[in-house]
Amino acid sequence: MNSTRSLALVGFLLSCAFSFPAAAQACGSQGVAAQVLGSGGPELQDKRASSSYLVWENGQARVLIDAGGGSALRFGESGAQMSQLDVILFTHFHVDHSGDFSALIKSSWFEDRKRPLPIYGPEGNDFMPSTTEFVSDLFGEKHGAYRYLSELLAPGEEASYKMQPHNVVATPAPVAVFRGGDLAVSAVRVVHGAVPALAWRVEIGGKVIVFSGDTNGEGQGLVQLARNADLFIAHNAVPEGVTGIERRLHMPPSVIGQIAGDAHVKSLILSHRMLRTLGKEDQTESEIKKQYPGPIKFANDLDCFPVK
Ligand SMILES: [Zn+2]
Repeated sequence: MNSTRSLALVGFLLSCAFSFPAAAQACGSQGVAAQVLGSGGPELQDKRASSSYLVWENGQARVLIDAGGGSALRFGESGAQMSQLDVILFTHFHVDHSGDFSALIKSSWFEDRKRPLPIYGPEGNDFMPSTTEFVSDLFGEKHGAYRYLSELLAPGEEASYKMQPHNVVATPAPVAVFRGGDLAVSAVRVVHGAVPALAWRVEIGGKVIVFSGDTNGEGQGLVQLARNADLFIAHNAVPEGVTGIERRLHMPPSVIGQIAGDAHVKSLILSHRMLRTLGKEDQTESEIKKQYPGPIKFANDLDCFPVK
């Protein structure tokens, strides 16, 4: 090959390399990885999608955890397909964890999914719907807001693609929830004000990824759930020293550090970043380091964290 042609070839290959969001689409192409679809909280001014995560294994998006606003766009950008998912898990039904669920389901209608889609989340109370209520409030045949898509929700039918929502009867100690192939999922009840809320443990391909969801960190359940996790994704929604309602809903850095340390997690990712914690990363990190000696990273949208 002469030098002009080889230069042209190099130029062509470079243009290919830069014409795709290569880093995002390569997440989890080999082995197991967690991808952050939404690293923000409810505030749009944080310029981040709200809470949502994917667990990838060998190029397949196997598990979706939460679907906050903006996450449907990030889902598309990640290169994932709704037909790849084994299961969707909800931590709770605040808008910043569930607002884009309908958009994801509508998109899935254009894919060729041929198996049920199990959906697991918390039970309800007077204040919040259960998981089955949440899904039927959206897609139920009679009163669902999007009842024109009710054919995607027919509880009990197993033959082809239908959503199959389930309420998890959670306890203060972890319970096994779902199993399929090399995937096993368990949950524990966590305290998030009056909102029924779960933290999730995803075991896949011999790796363990734990998602705190929103919680104030009370109790020992999350420590048990996160024990020896390869990756612990915790929500950095409030800074150190916060009081009142914010503290009753969320865990400050010192509590994240204590849980990560007590659970001996191998790596800690901080997500659900809000205007009140953005810019305070140094303070947050030093509080956590008092009790947890391992690596700490702050998440941004579409960040990919391979589990080695
Ligand atoms: Zn939240």
